[in-house]
Amino acid sequence: MKFCCECGSPVNESVPAGDNRLRFVCSDCNTIHYQNPKMVVGCLPEWGNKILLCKRAIEPQYGKWTLPAGFMENGETTLQGAMRETLEEAGARVEISHLFTLYNLPYISQVYLMFRARLLDLDFAAGEESLEVALFSEEEIPWDEIAFLTIEKTLRQYFEDRRKGEFGFHIGDVERRNR
Ligand code: ZN
Repeated sequence: MKFCCECGSPVNESVPAGDNRLRFVCSDCNTIHYQNPKMVVGCLPEWGNKILLCKRAIEPQYGKWTLPAGFMENGETTLQGAMRETLEEAGARVEISHLFTLYNLPYISQVYLMFRARLLDLDFAAGEESLEVALFSEEEIPWDEIAFLTIEKTLRQYFEDRRKGEFGFHIGDVERRNR
């Protein structure tokens, strides 16, 4: 950050009184511009024994498969965000059952929240950010072409839980940088 979004003056990095981290502080209006992690919310849409995946039409990971997910917007809840992303990327309507995985990605300051969800109908279609949307059984999942490690981990956890006949809630950290 170079300029204050409140008044347009240059910002400096300094530790505000009572704080212990460097922050961008406006040289004129003294506004402290806190920067905090972003939430990525998404769904694991189920239809029978199949899962809905989207083939990405945008970078990063163009052409790779992922679950519908994206950055939460201001003014919405996590469930609303997950349902909105599923509608935008896959044209799919879902009923969310519960939070399935939470992954911390401290190296990029993001938190992923993935919800289990039931597809309400088969009337889905690729949105602008997707090349293709399709249902996959476990045997059909293109494991070598999954866009993000958080999504691969969520899918593997899902099939593991399904084999056990019991779905839990799973929290984990992702440190790897290359995917
Ligand atoms: Zn300012």
